[in-house]
Amino acid sequence: MSLANSIRDSFTAGRFCYMVELVASQLTREAKLLQVASELAQIPQVVGAGITSYAGGAIGHDPIRVGTAARARGLVPNIHITCVNKDRLTIRRELEDLYALGIENVFAITGDYPKGVDHLKNPVPYDFDSVQLVEFLSELRAAGMPFHISVAVSPFKYTEPDCRYQYLKLEKKIRAGADFAITQLGYDSRKFRELKRYLDERGLKTPVLGNVYVLPAKAAERMSKGEPPGCWVAPELVERIQAETKASTDKGLAARLERAARMVAIVRGLGYAGAYLGGDHQAARVRWIIKRSEEIAHRWEEFAEEISYGPKGGYYLYGSPPSPPKKRGFWLRMGRIAEPANWPSPLRSVLTLAFRFVDKHPKLAEGLERAELKFKEPVFGCHACGNCVLGLMEFVCPMTCPKNLRNGPCGGPLNGMCEVLPDRPCIWVSVFERAKAANRIEELKVYIPPRNPALQGTSSYLNYLLKRDSRPGNTQPLVQITAAAPAKQEERNWQAKAPAPLVK
Ligand code: SF4
Repeated sequence: MSLANSIRDSFTAGRFCYMVELVASQLTREAKLLQVASELAQIPQVVGAGITSYAGGAIGHDPIRVGTAARARGLVPNIHITCVNKDRLTIRRELEDLYALGIENVFAITGDYPKGVDHLKNPVPYDFDSVQLVEFLSELRAAGMPFHISVAVSPFKYTEPDCRYQYLKLEKKIRAGADFAITQLGYDSRKFRELKRYLDERGLKTPVLGNVYVLPAKAAERMSKGEPPGCWVAPELVERIQAETKASTDKGLAARLERAARMVAIVRGLGYAGAYLGGDHQAARVRWIIKRSEEIAHRWEEFAEEISYGPKGGYYLYGSPPSPPKKRGFWLRMGRIAEPANWPSPLRSVLTLAFRFVDKHPKLAEGLERAELKFKEPVFGCHACGNCVLGLMEFVCPMTCPKNLRNGPCGGPLNGMCEVLPDRPCIWVSVFERAKAANRIEELKVYIPPRNPALQGTSSYLNYLLKRDSRPGNTQPLVQITAAAPAKQEERNWQAKAPAPLVK
């Protein structure tokens, strides 16, 4: 059963709309969250609420339970589904639950790395990345589950690789089936404008909601240090908010609500489809922000000049001088030789025959895998996943990314440094730099499907030539669902025990 979806309807009608983020963290009692949901449901301009999952890497309430209860109170939920610590079967079950509950709106994100976990000692698995999750949702949609898919994008990146990769990845998400996007929070109108221009220049009409976060001093101080991951606030803005907090009897409340109203006016003036309000979900304040933003809407360009907090020397796609491409390394050139897609077809045919023979002899197959690892581990940091996509990632191994992403960086890097291992550069910086040096940036838009986990510890050459791996041109359907109606309980139990193979 599908109920009215006011989020989808507002985009269809082209009405500027509002969504409010309900952080389903364990710091807030669920009863309190649902009280807030009831009050927000009374505001006509609020078309829905984002229900978070794993916000900031901390476990919270079950977003499906909270979202279902919010909907019962009249507020349409947009449920955050992350890929953190889940295999594809778990994700599939969550999505089937949403479908069975008649919930359509899904915010498909990679998800913050769990807080306090030492990645080097206890790596947390990510079976899908956010682009693969969108692709998975699209396949489910084609099978009859009418998901309405939203995705994240952060224009607030201030190095060229971080910034341009965010936009490349957004294009991938749109191509995979995203219906709308929501920006990360940020206080820089030039970046809001940059994203809009990027999409307009490419004729991409996907609606985007601009994130407007009501920012108190303590959160601003944390964000200025990059906490939670992906959030950043300029020191000048932190100082300003601290001064506002000290100078007023309301601890800066009026000033931050006014700033939020001005930001709504900016994103509306720039042509965003709506505003995504976070940081304060009290209904009276949300009402005030909406009303105030409408009163001052005509002054949006003046506010855009005022709320432009970026770092000095930060990268802007339409303002920064192009940086020269870096030189390509020796091993990068060698890598191209080691890439089976580059081998001449007679050689591939001979090797296919030879590998068929090897495949029938386990000892030989193991020997081949060991020989491959001997070469690839010291050169590329190979983890023997058996499903190699080095050639699609400029010879950077995706398994060296702590989240094992294959389609671009998450939203977490800060100035090119990894969210999970902040003393290391994000691997996607190298991918971008190398692609730029080879004039192959457009090729980074190719969708890379999830790896076939059954191939771990086997030879990727063997798997490539025998077409067992998962890659562009050799993708397998992620899901094989034929029923357009929610499965009955017995069927669901059966599916849980004996799931259809997602990847052969
Ligand atoms: S993608 Fe897989 S096979 Fe290729 S280098 Fe990385 S771990 Fe090794």
